Amino acid sequence: MAEARKTKKTGGAGERAAAKTKRAAAKRMPPFPAERFAGTVKLDEPLARHTTFRIGGPAAVHFTPASAEAAAAAVTWAREHGVPWLVLGLGSNVLVRDGGFPGLVLKIGKGLDALSHRAETWKVGAGLPLPLLARRTAEAGFSGVQRLVGVPGTVGGGVFMNAGAHGQDFAAVLISATILTPEGEVADRPRKAIPFAYRRSGLDAHVVLGCALRLQKDAPERVTADLAMVLKKRREGTPFDQPCCGSVFKNPEEMTAGRLVDRCGLKGRRVGGAEISSLHANYIVNRGNASADDVLKLIDVARTAVFKEFGIELELEVKVLGEAK
Ligand SMILES: Cc1cc2nc3c(=O)[nH]c(=O)nc-3n(C[C@H](O)[C@H](O)[C@H](O)COP(=O)(O)OP(=O)(O)OC[C@H]3O[C@@H](n4cnc5c(N)ncnc54)[C@H](O)[C@@H]3O)c2cc1C
Repeated sequence: MAEARKTKKTGGAGERAAAKTKRAAAKRMPPFPAERFAGTVKLDEPLARHTTFRIGGPAAVHFTPASAEAAAAAVTWAREHGVPWLVLGLGSNVLVRDGGFPGLVLKIGKGLDALSHRAETWKVGAGLPLPLLARRTAEAGFSGVQRLVGVPGTVGGGVFMNAGAHGQDFAAVLISATILTPEGEVADRPRKAIPFAYRRSGLDAHVVLGCALRLQKDAPERVTADLAMVLKKRREGTPFDQPCCGSVFKNPEEMTAGRLVDRCGLKGRRVGGAEISSLHANYIVNRGNASADDVLKLIDVARTAVFKEFGIELELEVKVLGEAK
């Protein structure tokens, strides 16, 4: 996505100088013509307010479009003016660096969160939270996404990440996704044209605006009981109520990332306000005042230890975005 090119590692004086130059360039960013686009605009908005980690510096412009057309128009404006942009849902799989994002953050949420169905085909807006999708479909007696109830993201982020839990994921139920292409066009892309893999869709540089899902008719009591069972497991086995980003690392083939980090004796290890959860070692939690820098240092500690102990290089599941301070 556009942000991938903008993302950089934290580091020494050279990097800090580069970050400063970028911020100065961002200050020269043309004013965002809010009156042209339906939606909510906030300037210099702290992204910590929009991530489940409660971490992240400010976005120069934070725009929540009220419609797909407004989203498309904002992206077109950014492209035409050479303004960097990125898309966020509920910010539940991101670590935004402390310097924030010197461009346009497009937040897909309210306004793009419709839900309807005809027989087993469900049409879902990208801004709908996954726990709501899971509950509403389960209560209507449809199976296929009820186990995503504990994934605190949006449908758009879920399709982009191929979110999955307890044997269900988007790749298994998607019929097609409505996407905004990098050229600013809205198109329907069928499932077979999306190269889904573990926690990825290959839709980089696209914005997911909605999707069609095929779910299975079932007894509402059975689907809601399944949902409740999964939620109970989650509450017991993960730091459900603490600020975090879910799994930090992807699971390698050999063993789960959580077990690898745990075997290195790292549960409870802290850097600043960031801590490897003592409940689940693949979660880093913000104990109240963690910076992105604290989390990145802790990630380094875990990766280095796992590599030394097992020779396995852990790959990040969380997306690291934005600029160093
Ligand atoms: C407590 C907790 C538990 C979790 N458990 C799970 C789990 O079991 N399984 C799992 O898969 N994940 C899990 N996650 C991670 C996360 O919830 C999922 O990856 C979710 O799908 C991210 O959705 P989001 O809207 O929050 O995306 P964001 O975090 O906002 O964004 C994540 C990435 O998706 C991109 N993106 C977001 N919206 C769109 C869009 N509309 N179009 C295109 N790209 C977009 C962003 O640019 C970014 O690269 C968990 C997270 C937490 C905090």
